[in-house]
Amino acid sequence: MSCYDGMKERFAASRFRSRFRLSEAEKAYLAEKGWNVIRAQTERIIRERLAQAVPPNDGSQTPMRGHPVFKAQHATATCCRGCLSKWHGIRPGHAFTEEELAYVTDMILGWLHDQAGDLSVFPSTPDLFEPASSDSTAEQHFGKKDI
Ligand SMILES: [Zn+2]
Repeated sequence: MSCYDGMKERFAASRFRSRFRLSEAEKAYLAEKGWNVIRAQTERIIRERLAQAVPPNDGSQTPMRGHPVFKAQHATATCCRGCLSKWHGIRPGHAFTEEELAYVTDMILGWLHDQAGDLSVFPSTPDLFEPASSDSTAEQHFGKKDI
């Protein structure tokens, strides 16, 4: 059982957490990027907004929209150090260990996978089945046109 599966019922019991859903546009975005890129983006967002001992604007650093990962963070109580402490037992005031970073990443990816369902219905699925770096996808999107 993944760490997300272990928490899923608790999230479902929260009116606030359970109201978050991915839109069709957000599912299409996940399909377009592929899971390797989404995982890399998730890790970057966590490192920039959550992983420091005292994150900037802690408690309000996670927007309600703008990236599917933000939505996943509210849905899984990984939005701020207060929620991480209350829901996941990760105490505030210290920088994340690699284990904590991996745990939070898996929690967010777990929710995204659960919400996304079968992404193969979307036309563009670059790396759902093959590993790829975020750089290669950036190249696909921006490289040829802009250079
Ligand atoms: Zn929070």
